[in-house]
Amino acid sequence: MSSAKKDIRALSKKELQDFFIGIGDKKFRGDQVYEWLWNKGVHSFEDMTNISKDTRAQLEERFVINHIKVDSLQKSTDGTIKNAVRLHDGYVVESVLIPTESRTTACVSSQVGCSLDCKFCATAKLKRMRNLNPDEIYDQVVAIHRESILYHDRPLSNIVFMGMGEPLMNYKNVLKSVEMITSDEGLGMSPKRITVSTSGVPKMIRKLADDEVKFNLAVSLHSAIQETREQIMPFAKQFTLTDLRDALEYWYSKTKRRITYEYVVWKDVNDTDADIKALIQFCKYVPCKVNLIEYNPIDDGEFQQASDEAINRYISGLESQRIPVTVRRSRGKDIDAACGQLANKS
Ligand code: SAH
Repeated sequence: MSSAKKDIRALSKKELQDFFIGIGDKKFRGDQVYEWLWNKGVHSFEDMTNISKDTRAQLEERFVINHIKVDSLQKSTDGTIKNAVRLHDGYVVESVLIPTESRTTACVSSQVGCSLDCKFCATAKLKRMRNLNPDEIYDQVVAIHRESILYHDRPLSNIVFMGMGEPLMNYKNVLKSVEMITSDEGLGMSPKRITVSTSGVPKMIRKLADDEVKFNLAVSLHSAIQETREQIMPFAKQFTLTDLRDALEYWYSKTKRRITYEYVVWKDVNDTDADIKALIQFCKYVPCKVNLIEYNPIDDGEFQQASDEAINRYISGLESQRIPVTVRRSRGKDIDAACGQLANKS
């Protein structure tokens, strides 16, 4: 029978308050229970000690409290930690803790698998099984926050939605999870320390702007030439660069926050001067910076990282136009925890 009960952590604060009003209790009871669920992170109604026995029994009858379980934890020689996270229905997703000198970043998953088909990404080889619930995203962050304190002796400082899945294809739950991560009843983190990365879903980028989100936006661009992008990211046939550009202009007009473009340079794919020229042109549409990501080979060997010479041409081309560019070294490669390597191998 318990499967018919609803996960109480799928309710927003407002929905909880309404539930208590509905059963003739006070709105304030919703706030109390919300705090138990999120800030205190209890696993049973029993533990909600300032809630009456009667009310607890009523909650027990209708709801369950789902939690993720960290099944296994792998540590890289560079300090990166990868969690295999088991969900209540048995699916497994991965999340990663990335420590650097100045920050500790949690990289979290938003879907089980992914519905997109980027040719260079290991997660794309898994079918999309389902969206994660807000609490399942939130719990990944909490687990990593605890590990950061335990193993690195400092709290989590940043969160990136760059794990498995396309966050903007699970829009509502991703936004709910951010609401909890940033709220005082949750982790109280600043949205400025959160980055949501998308492969570029124009309609949803516009929606983010309309919803006035306060977090940062990153776009996995990888090519500013339509034909090339279609080859490596076939969904780009529907979500064209022209539509993407329009959506990004709209985002900037509303938020005044610059975009980060993630970009991998591959040998014989996007390493010519024409590719660089197209990227520079694309970068002129909205204020942005470019993050050149090191390629992490996945098993099939179809793609190869471009030469240092090609990457240096990108850097000097962008810098000559005063477009900020950084090169991101990969972390956690020895445990398949780097970008695009998350595929539940273990
Ligand atoms: N679906 C979202 C979130 C995933 S983020 C998005 O595409 O943005 C993962 C980042 O790693 C994306 O920028 C993706 O393009 C990049 N990536 C995927 N496979 C990779 C690989 N093998 N090596 C390096 N980066 C990769």
